[in-house]
Amino acid sequence: MAESNDTIFGKIIRREIPADIVYEDDLCLAFRDVQPQAPVHVLMIPKQHIPKLADATSEDHAVLGHLLLKIKQVAEDMGLEKGYRVVINTGEDGGQTVFHLHLHLLGGRALAWPPG
Ligand code: AMP
Repeated sequence: MAESNDTIFGKIIRREIPADIVYEDDLCLAFRDVQPQAPVHVLMIPKQHIPKLADATSEDHAVLGHLLLKIKQVAEDMGLEKGYRVVINTGEDGGQTVFHLHLHLLGGRALAWPPG
């Protein structure tokens, strides 16, 4: 799904606004969240515009797998050997505020469950 991407994350991909980028390759970009909810809070996004997980299709199979494997690599690179959480907020009830699919990587402290 590659339509126009006027979200804030589209602007980060196009380098129209700054971000603290921690990983990048041809398919994805990872950067620190501006309002961190844990000592490590990184957002991993695909470069193609998929607004939300609910919009993903079988054509997105490879990129979705890539995002998970690369966020695992970022977690390892950041020393989160005690564990971490990966979250995808999807749609209004899921608490999604930016409509460009993103995975939250949270770590560096013990995280409570269930989430709010
Ligand atoms: P969500 O609520 O799952 O859509 O998460 C959106 C996340 O994007 C929030 O955690 C925000 O703090 C974060 N965010 C919004 N704008 C920026 C930005 N310019 N750079 C980094 N993170 C951002």
